[in-house]
Amino acid sequence: MSSIAFIGLGNMGGGMAANLVKAGHDVRAFDLNAEALDHAKDNGCKTFMAARDAVEGAHAVVSMLPNGAIVKAVYTADVIGHAPRTAILLDCSTIDVATAREVETLAQDAGYGMVDAPVSGGIAAANAGTLTFMVGGTDEAFARAEPILSAMGKAVIHAGGAGAGQAAKICNNMLLGIHMIGTCEAFTMAEKLGLDPQTFYDISSVSSGQNWSMTSYCPVPGVGPQSPADNGYQGGFAAGLMLKDLRLAMEAASTAGATTPLGQHAKDLYEAFAAQHGGMDFSGIITTLQD
Ligand code: NAD
Repeated sequence: MSSIAFIGLGNMGGGMAANLVKAGHDVRAFDLNAEALDHAKDNGCKTFMAARDAVEGAHAVVSMLPNGAIVKAVYTADVIGHAPRTAILLDCSTIDVATAREVETLAQDAGYGMVDAPVSGGIAAANAGTLTFMVGGTDEAFARAEPILSAMGKAVIHAGGAGAGQAAKICNNMLLGIHMIGTCEAFTMAEKLGLDPQTFYDISSVSSGQNWSMTSYCPVPGVGPQSPADNGYQGGFAAGLMLKDLRLAMEAASTAGATTPLGQHAKDLYEAFAAQHGGMDFSGIITTLQD
């Protein structure tokens, strides 16, 4: 058993911290939100009123926060210099590559090992402990982070050096945004051409148009396995979060000089969709094509 500080106990972090408790760790939780803290307490975490108190004496610090500015503020104010230098630091938030690298450099300069370890999988996977972690950091930091991440996920993959986890995450989610929109267009056009959606699914799911948005997360109700489409596009992965990831992807593309016209177009389409329906599942973008 080790002592793990956990900062950010929202939709994702709440379930992740609970899984660390189930794995036998002593979890020291902090969140600005009192309700999130109460929930963590119910799940067996020890709660603290300040991040710097939670990290005191911890063997590891895990964070699951909304964005890069908050991650940088929390690490510079309350983690670096407050957690023991022997602690391994794991930021699981989805943030921009540049901030991830900057915070990891600050941590390393202060003598800590640190990884960026964003996740694939939503709230259900966070609760079930079946997330996929994409990890950036040195071999040594990865080796120390891996057993902790394994208690919260089904796959832990070392993507490369600092920031590589975030790079993998936004490239993956840019592709997801693009193939979701493409899948929505194909089903909508098939229907307008007189094809039954189930028949089109039966054909395309075993043909070259097959992709995850079709066969694991079909945007058409009643077709394919159970998905948010079967629940009025509620639950699942909110359009606002897809937009966040596409914005991060376009920021990174611009910095890296990568040419991503479809990524840009997907970002523009999700920007328009999320302005009206930010809380709706991202597959609900099909409704904008149907009228
Ligand atoms: P959330 O808003 O539910 O949780 C974030 C938590 O951080 C909140 O409880 C908030 O009170 C807390 N917080 C904010 N500032 C803080 C601070 N300074 N100190 C301590 N706590 C603070 O968000 P979420 O859905 O849990 O997402 C967390 C991260 O995971 C994001 O980076 C998101 O992009 C990523 N992510 C989310 C999903 C998803 O399906 N929700 C999937 C993959 C990745």
